[in-house]
Amino acid sequence: MTAPYPYRPAAELSPFPPADPVPTAGRVERRRQLVDDDRSCLWKPFTQMQAYQDAEPVILEEGQGCWLRDVHDRVYLDGNASLWVNLHGHRRREIDRAVASQLERIAHCTLLGPSNVPAIELARTLVELAPSPRLTRVFYSDSGSTAVEIAVKMAFQYWQQADGGGERTVFVRLDNAYHGDTIGSVSVGGIDLFHGVYGPLLFQTERAHSPYCYRCPVGRSYPGCDLECTDSIREAFERNPGKVAALIVEPLMQGAAGVLIYPPEVLARAAEIAREHGALLIADEVATGFGRTGELFACQHAGVEPDLMAVAKGLSAGYLPLAATLATEAIYQGFLGEHTEYKTFFHGHSYTGNPLACAAAVANLSLFEDGTLMEDVRRKAAHFGRRLAAMADLPHVGDVRQLGLIAGIEVVKGRDGKVPFDPTLQAGNTICAAVRERGVMVRPLGDVLVLMPPLAVSDDELDLLCGVVHETIEALGPRLARGERS
Ligand code: PLP
Repeated sequence: MTAPYPYRPAAELSPFPPADPVPTAGRVERRRQLVDDDRSCLWKPFTQMQAYQDAEPVILEEGQGCWLRDVHDRVYLDGNASLWVNLHGHRRREIDRAVASQLERIAHCTLLGPSNVPAIELARTLVELAPSPRLTRVFYSDSGSTAVEIAVKMAFQYWQQADGGGERTVFVRLDNAYHGDTIGSVSVGGIDLFHGVYGPLLFQTERAHSPYCYRCPVGRSYPGCDLECTDSIREAFERNPGKVAALIVEPLMQGAAGVLIYPPEVLARAAEIAREHGALLIADEVATGFGRTGELFACQHAGVEPDLMAVAKGLSAGYLPLAATLATEAIYQGFLGEHTEYKTFFHGHSYTGNPLACAAAVANLSLFEDGTLMEDVRRKAAHFGRRLAAMADLPHVGDVRQLGLIAGIEVVKGRDGKVPFDPTLQAGNTICAAVRERGVMVRPLGDVLVLMPPLAVSDDELDLLCGVVHETIEALGPRLARGERS
């Protein structure tokens, strides 16, 4: 079975020189030790470690461009941008140099009190690039979860300090939302599999439908519907008149729930409802920010201007842990006062505003400056779209969702009735493992295969990515449908 277009194999496209055919005894021993230590010491995120103990681990050692190499000298196309963070490829010269040059000055100093040069430069750049001129203030942290946690706390405290705002304590969030793993961001999340067990620890929120068009929660289909999924947002506000602090959304894509890409009109309608009720809008652009969707920020597709915006992942282009929460001047002003008024935002982390990470981010964002990068992303997204379209007719592909250089392919047992595979088969994992054998690294979310290469991906690399995924679904889909565990 072959994809309906030619593509070059991983071994031909990889930029790494061929591996030594006979590794030295020292290298063999080092690999063995790494595998043993990996199994005996590490506890990995979002991983069932019992199954992990029996699997052959992939231990990465090097990156170059859109490629990774492991300690066994196997090469992989980085088809999920190292968990949606990498933009310009690995070892991008401009960012390497910026980090190296910052290292010659200082690696870390606190932002509690003194400022530092890269933190100021980055804040200025972020304010200039933000999707709204109203976003004028930048508060740093280190992950998407903390950026959201901060946005939620800021929204809450803002209303507590605003005249007549004390009743605004409710957050409206969507089913299938993912905003991170800290308790505040889990509270505004909506994926039962990840969040259910923590129920007793979470604060109460008002939930609204997920705009999951393929499995529409209100049984409509887009286009042609009246965006009825947003009615539940309106109802959540109406149940709590004058009490909603903020609506929080992932603009245009509920990523972790399975790349649930939804129409810009839904985002615009949601923003409108929040405005009508005088609440704040928090945009979680952690996954969608910095070009991946074909605009610098996903909010721009819908002309929506949030009051608070969380960014992370691509902010440092996949170099160092860094996040930021952008706030409007009005929110910022709400925290000003005499010391004794206790309006201070009492929040900060040891590494807040870390100079090395900020220097990487400044170098990252300077690569967007002349506009050609985004033009290139849009052109590549169109090419990606053509390759994805070829997959849409495969018998076990239920839905292909694409937004810029992001795609989610939902595989199903039966297209009629959208019947899922038996979950014990782990169809997504099985397909991705087979794809990896052919030198392409992608990670599933349940039975959704996530394709999210770095923005620097070439047309040849996109062809390899889509070609291998296409052929693997075609080969394994029927076997999985028969219940065969391969
Ligand atoms: N928000 C969104 C939309 C995300 O997709 C993620 C991670 O995937 C997060 C928040 C959490 O980010 P982090 O993993 O950096 O804590």
